[in-house]
Amino acid sequence: MTSTETKHTPHSHREGYKVIQIHPTLNCNLKCLHCYSESAPGLRGQLEIGALNDFLSSAFDEGYNSIAVSGGDPFLYHDLDKLLKYTFSAGYYNTITTNGGLLKSVRNQELLQFVNLVAVSIDGYKEEHNFIRNNVAAFDHMLAALEVLRQHKTNFGLIHMLHNEPIEVLSWLCEFAIAEKAGLVHLHPVEIMGRASAIASKLELTEEMKHQFYILFQYYKQKYDGKLKMQIDLIHRDHILEFPQLAYQYNCTDICDTNYFRELIIDEKGNILPVTYGMPVEYALGNIQERISLTEMIKRFRQLKLSKLRELYTDVYSQIRDDEDHELINFPESVVNHARKIIKEDSNFEMAF
Ligand code: SF4
Repeated sequence: MTSTETKHTPHSHREGYKVIQIHPTLNCNLKCLHCYSESAPGLRGQLEIGALNDFLSSAFDEGYNSIAVSGGDPFLYHDLDKLLKYTFSAGYYNTITTNGGLLKSVRNQELLQFVNLVAVSIDGYKEEHNFIRNNVAAFDHMLAALEVLRQHKTNFGLIHMLHNEPIEVLSWLCEFAIAEKAGLVHLHPVEIMGRASAIASKLELTEEMKHQFYILFQYYKQKYDGKLKMQIDLIHRDHILEFPQLAYQYNCTDICDTNYFRELIIDEKGNILPVTYGMPVEYALGNIQERISLTEMIKRFRQLKLSKLRELYTDVYSQIRDDEDHELINFPESVVNHARKIIKEDSNFEMAF
């Protein structure tokens, strides 16, 4: 079935989301110092909308029910309207992550009717935000975007990169979110990738800081229960050891194999990757330009690559088990880092289709 043929019956979202992250362009209005995808103004590549929507049609048939569009800034994707209209009518839950700087435009405001949730990125107090965003007006533009979202009655949340910053920022952020009528605060520890590598010493979180933020997160989650949803991309080592399925470490049957693909990523080149953005292309399920269904890609992946992905998870799980000094884990990031290390150290590593 192609993207233009049939309107789908929406999946129930009560069973949880199976998410496809889409990075349709690395073009961005900002050039942030910490950008892991190294997005910047003027980068030209754009995903081809026909191939993208056809792939999303087949992914819907595989049970995927949410897209998360980021970038670059998604509002610079020429075909964002065609993407959002298609997925919205198909029954996907549409989310967008943006720096907010492009929400003055009429075209972009009109697209909000096809978005279920907007995540606006914020890096802390005004001076810190502007420094990291590499733009003296970034904080004010972000504030203006929140006003636009309220006017359009669009659900929105704030996504904050946890980095080497005063822990008091968390209390401020929660109060700020409530005052601005955000429904969600999502905390994501900085990943030292892309441009962040150049200022790693300024950004990197110590173990002690991770613990402080994690404890404070639990406190504020309770405190603001009912007023603000909160999530953090860190898992305690004890949870992983007690519930290995959190780390995809299971006595794998066909059913739990699908956990490996609970979240898929389409990068700016159209590669379909497991785990998270930055996963080496050697582990890709395929590319949207192949024009084959996701079902076929998964079947092929199981035959040719799944054992390698399992090995990767097993290695990372064992490292976490044996390393008592690191208790708070960003599991997908650990998998990506380990995959990169394996490929770097093994010049014969090969896993093409
Ligand atoms: S972090 Fe986001 S806003 Fe900043 S350059 Fe990267 S994609 Fe653009």
